[in-house]
Amino acid sequence: MAENKKKYEIECVQRGFANGVSPNFPLTDKQKEKMIDKATKAYGKFLDALECDWRNDPNSNDTPRRVAKAYVNDLWAGRYTAMSPITSFPSDGYDGIVIERNIPLTSMCSHHHQTIKGVVHIGYIAGENGQVVGLSKLNRIVELFGRRGAIQEQLTSAIHNAVSKITEGNKGVIVTIVATHNCVSCRGVKHNGASMVTTKASGVFRENNNLARKEFFDSLKVNNGGHQV
Ligand SMILES: [Zn+2]
Repeated sequence: MAENKKKYEIECVQRGFANGVSPNFPLTDKQKEKMIDKATKAYGKFLDALECDWRNDPNSNDTPRRVAKAYVNDLWAGRYTAMSPITSFPSDGYDGIVIERNIPLTSMCSHHHQTIKGVVHIGYIAGENGQVVGLSKLNRIVELFGRRGAIQEQLTSAIHNAVSKITEGNKGVIVTIVATHNCVSCRGVKHNGASMVTTKASGVFRENNNLARKEFFDSLKVNNGGHQV
């Protein structure tokens, strides 16, 4: 099977925003080190403002650096580190639905900087001469957009639009996210267990009584490891 390597422009929000890439994206290792140093100093000041004697507390004296590293290397990695190029393949006549369920999602709400945890379900139908992608690429797309500040609605759209661009010529794409937000369970109303469900659909998945849409949601109920939609 001939590989069709293409570079896709899949970013859809303004550079610099919490849910967009950083202005110098992608950062070199040296730029990341510099950013970690700056953020470490700034977080120390943040703890000073909270009257935390972090410098003398053995559990806290390296916390500013730990937090800075966690943001740059993990929590917001999608803002600084590029995903390897996505390879798509000709669908070779397969005209059925392709679904990947229960892709783990760890993200962070842009409003409160608390974690969002959940799963992403992605479905699409390749076009006549359309493209399919390796399954792990869908996981990587979730990581690229999830590892940033996010609001779930926009995150759903970003993942949808990226999948749609990469499967150029598709007949439709659908993305559903089921997630719990720490900012709801730990602060404010402090309700545990409430989950948020968002769906973005295009093409054949758009109509409510469409069979492809029904097949997608039915498949999520089958042996889905207890994740409810
Ligand atoms: Zn929040």
